[in-house]
Amino acid sequence: MRVLVIGAGPAGTRCAERLAGRGARVALAGAEPALPYDRIALGRLLAGDAEVPALITHDAARLRGLGIRYLPATRVAALDRAAGTARTARGEALDWDRVVLATGSDAVRLPLPGAALPGVFLYRSMADVQAIRRAAAGGARAVVIGGGLLGLEAAAALSVAGARVTVVHALGWPMERQLDPAAGALLARQLGATRRLRFVMPAVTEAIEGDGRVEALRLADGTRIACSLVVMAVGIRPSVALARESGLEVKRGIVVDDAMRSSDPRILAIGECAEHRGQVCGLVAPALAMAEAAAMTLAGESVAYAPRPDAAALKVSGIAVWSAGEVAPADAEAVTLSDEEAGVYRRLWLRGGRLVGAVLYGDTADAGFYLDLITGGRPVAPFRARLAFGAAHAEAA
Ligand SMILES: Cc1cc2nc3c(=O)[nH]c(=O)nc-3n(C[C@H](O)[C@H](O)[C@H](O)COP(=O)(O)OP(=O)(O)OC[C@H]3O[C@@H](n4cnc5c(N)ncnc54)[C@H](O)[C@@H]3O)c2cc1C
Repeated sequence: MRVLVIGAGPAGTRCAERLAGRGARVALAGAEPALPYDRIALGRLLAGDAEVPALITHDAARLRGLGIRYLPATRVAALDRAAGTARTARGEALDWDRVVLATGSDAVRLPLPGAALPGVFLYRSMADVQAIRRAAAGGARAVVIGGGLLGLEAAAALSVAGARVTVVHALGWPMERQLDPAAGALLARQLGATRRLRFVMPAVTEAIEGDGRVEALRLADGTRIACSLVVMAVGIRPSVALARESGLEVKRGIVVDDAMRSSDPRILAIGECAEHRGQVCGLVAPALAMAEAAAMTLAGESVAYAPRPDAAALKVSGIAVWSAGEVAPADAEAVTLSDEEAGVYRRLWLRGGRLVGAVLYGDTADAGFYLDLITGGRPVAPFRARLAFGAAHAEAA
């Protein structure tokens, strides 16, 4: 069976590897010129803590050894479902019996005046990071728009690389999707103290100003922040154009069933481009789990992909912050542990006697314990009074 995997991010590469191991003839077409690399480690490249070779997950010899035909810098422009062929942007034809779409997401570029000026960057690919690094050399003044996980990671990395960094965030505290306001305030304070990040929030960006290149960011209240470099980290959008133009069912992502099949059963979709039971993912763990499921489907094994609750940690060294499940749902009871002296804060949310969400700040050693409780849905009544103190105390008789 000839399988064409489109997109050589973590999901596509994992799926190609599993399929080749099961005897399929696999071609892996990736739009990026690089060998498959560890996208989640791009912050280390930006900070100057790692160079490109350290990020490569599959070099040419490994791909060859796996029997994968790797096609770098190959964007698939069209699928002909009737003929069983694909056309690349360069006009080559690729034959397939099955297709796995693993096209991931695109970073959102805010449609602001000045957004196309040189010096405005997205934070998604190795090429983005290499361009930011060049622009930041020599101690630039940088603004990161977006105080979510990626924005903070980019800001901290830029600071390590010597830039003076301001984070402009639309909400009143950073990482609002993962943290409650109290944990967010602790995080902003610690990033200010340890990484010299300046936060401007809540704030709405109105324009990027400059004559031929970036000179300042203008906020809706008229404030101007002088800078030579802007990084937009304001969200991602599933990359679905190819699927849509091929006539597949697409909502926010490419609609798939539990076996990762799209509306055409010969074409599967995995990772951030896929929409499973109304959800699109934005983390690597579910993307890889979908890749495993798709490989099983194509090998004729029966599989039902079941998502686990999301868990996320900020990858900034010296800062321990983690969250999982539902954060501050309106219909849940909250349990809080706060030790300001020790810099430890925990907030847990319970519904129907079960843990549904957790935020840990300052000490994340019990993250696995809380994630298991959220995932397993085990009743916490027997140890509720000790729950916030972590596994060792909660489970002591
Ligand atoms: C800087 C950064 C840090 C991150 N940190 C974390 C983290 O700590 N933890 C975590 O869980 N997640 C993290 N993420 C998110 C994680 O990287 C994604 O969830 C993961 O990469 C999704 O994998 P994917 O294979 O679905 O998509 P992608 O990684 O986006 O890969 C898709 C690939 O397909 C290619 N492509 C698109 N269209 C075509 C086409 N038509 N033809 C050929 N190729 C195409 C794209 O160029 C891309 O290379 C981070 C993301 C970034 C950017």
